[in-house]
Amino acid sequence: MLVVMKREATREQIDAVVERIKEFGIEPVPLPGAERTAIGTFGTTSRAAAEAVESLPGVAEVVPVSRPFKLASREVIATDTVVRVGSAGIGAGQPLAVIAGPCAVESRDVTIETARAVRAAGGTALRGGAFKPRTSPYSFRGMGEQGLEILAEARAETGLPIVTEVLSPSDVDAVARVADCLQIGARNMQNYSLLDAVGEQTKPVLLKRGMSATIEELLLSAEYVLARGNRNVILCERGIRTFERYTRNTFDVNAIPLLKRLTHLPVLADPSHGTGKWYLVAPVALAAVAAGADGLIVEVHPSPDHALSDGFQSLTFEHLRALLSVVPEVARAVGRYDRVTAS
Ligand code: PEP
Ligand code: MN
Repeated sequence: MLVVMKREATREQIDAVVERIKEFGIEPVPLPGAERTAIGTFGTTSRAAAEAVESLPGVAEVVPVSRPFKLASREVIATDTVVRVGSAGIGAGQPLAVIAGPCAVESRDVTIETARAVRAAGGTALRGGAFKPRTSPYSFRGMGEQGLEILAEARAETGLPIVTEVLSPSDVDAVARVADCLQIGARNMQNYSLLDAVGEQTKPVLLKRGMSATIEELLLSAEYVLARGNRNVILCERGIRTFERYTRNTFDVNAIPLLKRLTHLPVLADPSHGTGKWYLVAPVALAAVAAGADGLIVEVHPSPDHALSDGFQSLTFEHLRALLSVVPEVARAVGRYDRVTAS
């Protein structure tokens, strides 16, 4: 249930509600808002508890929360959350975020050169995996800690915040020391101990949809992170597996407006993994912007033919520049904010 306090409720009245909820053996989650405070209780709540709380001074109403995800739900938090990655805000009312970079950190030179190109094109943040989840154990699996050092150097050089993937709970501290945002990849969307671990630290989390996950499962995974206390979660649609074989995945454009309706969390689109083909990235990126995405995450490489992973879906610097010049036009055409990064 969601206990909505009256606008004029005092601190003592809020504390009394919290204490009363605890007497029923339920964990209250205070949700301070701009105008009034609400207190959530998630899990099973008895009718007796709801009635007892509803009669306390300062309580406006007690609303049942029907969705299985709670803190991620618009029922509980109606206004859009803006998540800060470095100094950039991602979410409603903010300029569209464009997170770009190589699939993997493969070398210092490629990473720094790409970071400079992303910066010059007006990108918001640099992406690149130091720890790579690969389908085959014989593929390049990233440079690990050395890759993190290269990412830190790229940030020092360009000022771009860093988004990079973490694969296991034991690496969370090391990755969080460098990253401005921790990426949870599609393959780990339901790795619950990893979700708990990133929920217990303070860096924002970019959570990608699993390739066979429903939208509700994605939101329930976000709930794991939120429930551990980290309220800075960005969702990402990156394509799902279907019967179609001409593309690597089928980018689910439905997910974008649907997620914006169900949740207050920012939603990004990844047209690189969503299509698997560089020549489909720009059109699908523009469709996602038109559908309401708060930003994009795209793969870019100075020489896609030589990339150690995902070269075929990587944009060249020229393609990235071209995409970023047309994104604001589409945003403007559908009545959305029309800048890519804050200037
Ligand atoms: C990635 O972003 O490099 C990646 C591995 O993506 P996904 O988890 O969506 O496959
Ligand atoms: Mn990739």
